[in-house]
Amino acid sequence: MLEKGYTEKNLSFSMLKAQMMALVMTLPVVLVLGGLYIVVNGVGERASGAGFWLLFIVVMLAGIVLHELIHGAVGAAFTKKKWRSIHFGVDWATLTPYCHCAEPLSMPQYALLCALPTVVLGFLPYLLGLVSGYGPAAWYGLLFILAGGGDAYMLWLIRKERHGLILDHPYLAGCVVFYPNQQDCVPLIKSAQ
Ligand SMILES: [Zn+2]
Repeated sequence: MLEKGYTEKNLSFSMLKAQMMALVMTLPVVLVLGGLYIVVNGVGERASGAGFWLLFIVVMLAGIVLHELIHGAVGAAFTKKKWRSIHFGVDWATLTPYCHCAEPLSMPQYALLCALPTVVLGFLPYLLGLVSGYGPAAWYGLLFILAGGGDAYMLWLIRKERHGLILDHPYLAGCVVFYPNQQDCVPLIKSAQ
């Protein structure tokens, strides 16, 4: 990108700050939505039985995989090489699964890539649970809103980069914003994927 006359914009944040910010951004939302559910539907019966929890854990694990697959599907939809530009992995030090896109995306495309897993696995089950009064769906959604904290922080970081091209950082957790003219540059650190 630099060879094509783009300049890159650089902003770095510590992993600790990124994780703190992820929590600061999602925890109030989760508390308010959780409170709203209780106001509307009451606390309800306590879920019980090993079968229920086993199923809940299986559905949670499926959700974690699906979260990364949704990131990947958005990336594949907007890149030239499609799925060949998308790589999945796990950062074993922090047990964080990630999805990496090797081609730059426009800001709206990158924003969709960040937001879609939390919309599908977080807000959607929460709303279904809220409307139907089925608690486990609502709590599941809230867990995935919390899990999307890193993505939410990423959206916050890129909010002013409307005309930039955004590329996942080639080897660090984060991204780089490219501009086709002379402006100051930023790698943004992504806390979780
Ligand atoms: Zn994510």
